[in-house]
Amino acid sequence: MKENVSTPIYSITPFTLLDYAHQSACILWFAGCNMRCLYCYNPEIVLGKGSISFEKTLAFLHSRKNLLDAVVFSGGECLLHKNIADLIIEVKKMGFLVKIDTNGSRPMFLKKLIEKQLIDYVALDFKALPEHFEKITQSVLFPQFENSLDLLLENQFPFEVRTTVHSELIPEKDIQQMIAYLENKKYSGNYYLQYFVNGVKTLENLGHSLKILNAEKLSTSKIKISIRG
Ligand code: SF4
Repeated sequence: MKENVSTPIYSITPFTLLDYAHQSACILWFAGCNMRCLYCYNPEIVLGKGSISFEKTLAFLHSRKNLLDAVVFSGGECLLHKNIADLIIEVKKMGFLVKIDTNGSRPMFLKKLIEKQLIDYVALDFKALPEHFEKITQSVLFPQFENSLDLLLENQFPFEVRTTVHSELIPEKDIQQMIAYLENKKYSGNYYLQYFVNGVKTLENLGHSLKILNAEKLSTSKIKISIRG
């Protein structure tokens, strides 16, 4: 993917209470992604170009100093933009917490950000197990995802795992296997299952998705399933 260095941000959500638990935040939506998930809700961000520069973003954040707790770096895949480290440094200097939404495809970059104590929280997408990963994401990035997961676990870094569930792409038995995979990894905590939203524009046209999961039944002693949507 050709990186649009000067204006990498597609848009900014100026305020949300829903994205970072217990914190008020804004969201920076970075253009571009190295996956093409069939159910992706943000085709215009994934396929489009950014139009907002870091300078403009910093000016906006200065105006929100002491009004917001956190800045969420999302996309697209924000970690494709190597120079976001410079932006994150500035954001931290302003006193904001930093959350990264990632598909897990850039573990080495994630490692650097953790080592330099530049980030506070990560939401990691768990797209699928290896046998379905390529079909769902149209990429071969499962090993990178797994490295990111291992890295977060080894560092005991605060993070959550989440999966978008379209009932035709990820049936319940696959969810059970994904939970077992996380248990084998010794992950404990919340695992968020986000129902696919029928009727919105996505990268591929998909059939109707059913909402049939039972959080209580799927939860284990170590992993608490929370269903969103
Ligand atoms: S859903 Fe997939 S294609 Fe869309 S932004 Fe996330 S990782 Fe990229």
